[in-house]
Amino acid sequence: MPDTRTIVFRGIAVSVIRKASVRRIGLRVDAQDNVSVTAPLGTQDERILAALEGRHDWILNSRQKMHERHDATFRPETLEFGDLEVHVKRRATPNVEVRISAPDAVPEVTAPFDMPLAVVRGIVEPHVPRLRESRDSMIKGMPARLSYVTGERHLLWGEKMELVTVDWARPGVRVEDGRIVMGLVPGMGLAERRELMRHFYRQCVLCELGPIVARYEELMGREIAGITCRFMKSRWGSCTPQTRTIRVNCMLARYPRPLLEYVVVHEMCHFVERGHGRAFRELEARYFPECGKATAFLDRVAGEILI
Ligand SMILES: [Zn+2]
Repeated sequence: MPDTRTIVFRGIAVSVIRKASVRRIGLRVDAQDNVSVTAPLGTQDERILAALEGRHDWILNSRQKMHERHDATFRPETLEFGDLEVHVKRRATPNVEVRISAPDAVPEVTAPFDMPLAVVRGIVEPHVPRLRESRDSMIKGMPARLSYVTGERHLLWGEKMELVTVDWARPGVRVEDGRIVMGLVPGMGLAERRELMRHFYRQCVLCELGPIVARYEELMGREIAGITCRFMKSRWGSCTPQTRTIRVNCMLARYPRPLLEYVVVHEMCHFVERGHGRAFRELEARYFPECGKATAFLDRVAGEILI
């Protein structure tokens, strides 16, 4: 029977396993940061402590490495190539893989734990032109040219609605009888009209977010610390898992409401899984079974983000 006990060496708990089959003192630090010693049966604590003394630096270094390796799973790493941002995800894999997908349109690379970031960078670099192209086609396929004049059609929650401009003392936008009514003061040009519409879209999304967030917080058992609505050129949504905050694109007001819901779910799933691997996709599908359809839709209309 092995004899297992714990001794304390310079503040570190060390489990000592004494076995008949062991000839000499062995030392190991495992992935959970446990330090253990194997020793022949009958070895005195003093002898083990003396042996540990000679390996003190090695123990500290090994623990540090284990910490770094552990942290790498959770700590976000990013590579920047000019205006292109690539997220690095560490995996127990010998391969490096690069991909880009909606709704974030942020390229992601999976790389082995111990591969230095500079090496990952060298591998990703030749892919940069292709990644930039994919991202750009996602974000500016066919920017809509809108003039914000009466008779033009504008999207709201997936419906094409007629725009009517009227003179109002206070500029603003509202929906009336199935039409989008834009109140203007004389002299308001394209830029001001666009700004009014953006403000309107933003309000529309903000009004919807409350119930969506409440629903998924309860379903997923996760709380959001903050959610904001922004105009983003290249993403439908983004999140910061560390602060549990989410940003969604105001332009989602143009598409059917479930798409906004999908983006919130997608970003909330990143609180649990950072990348877009299999675990992430399963999680997403559990809370939003139509996620495949939603992604395809958002990819297709991504070119319309810029208006
Ligand atoms: Zn994502």
